[in-house]
Amino acid sequence: MTDELVYERHVLGLSGGRDSAALAVYMRQNFPELDVEYFFTDTGKELPEVYEYLGRLEGFLGRPITRLNPDRDFDFWLKQYNNFLPSPQTRWCTRQLKIRPFEQWVKPDLDKGITINSYVAIRADEASRGGMVSKQRNLHVHLPFVEHGLDKAAIVELLEASGLGLPSYYRWRSRSGCTFCFYQQKIEWVRLKQEHPEAYEEAKRYEKEALANHSPFTWSQGESLSELEQPKRIAQIRENHKKRLERLAKNRVENPLNPNSELVDMDDVYGSEKMCLACHK
Ligand code: SF4
Repeated sequence: MTDELVYERHVLGLSGGRDSAALAVYMRQNFPELDVEYFFTDTGKELPEVYEYLGRLEGFLGRPITRLNPDRDFDFWLKQYNNFLPSPQTRWCTRQLKIRPFEQWVKPDLDKGITINSYVAIRADEASRGGMVSKQRNLHVHLPFVEHGLDKAAIVELLEASGLGLPSYYRWRSRSGCTFCFYQQKIEWVRLKQEHPEAYEEAKRYEKEALANHSPFTWSQGESLSELEQPKRIAQIRENHKKRLERLAKNRVENPLNPNSELVDMDDVYGSEKMCLACHK
């Protein structure tokens, strides 16, 4: 494809998570005539399961997923931000490691006036989520799941039916993104320690360095990772999580026509307002 022939592009960002993978499958199955370019913005701090899932997805789609690597890595930006860990209050990581590489990737074409259609995996059951308005005249954001009414149960079904299934980390964590993402629940930190102790240790090192530099933030609210990993505290976190699950099971009204419609994931248990659309889709 030469630049002279391209009047518009179709791009779809994959996070290594369930919803964006389902959207790629959906677009492939329903709009095979569109030449969709798939991309993944690599923070360099992703779970190994994410790369494995992207590999399987590439096989399914029959085309490569372009890796967009940030020009500067997490360590560079951490120094720029005086060793302050990113947090929900100052989310510099998403800006520098996810959004900036995407902007740099599409900017030359946007500047030439080429239309970029970006497909985003917001689901019909979360249509109220804002923040998807493009400031660029020729960057058009599309929400196919909202437009066609696909909710969480529908996209899980779609992934299962395609044979791709869910990312393997879903058995212990329900979101893609950095190993040390501060949006993780405490139970997910406990499980990260169990599944990837080296990633937990790395997060601890970052945190110690940050605290030594007077960072006001720890990765997990109200306690350091060294405190969180104490056996007593771990037992308490597991117990709290179990209680939440029991409460949820008690209050759940099952839909007899679609028993899968109330799938439990972390968002069901803890709410979904604390997430990042660039990293966790
Ligand atoms: S996954 Fe979390 S830590 Fe990583 S860039 Fe996204 S918001 Fe930041």
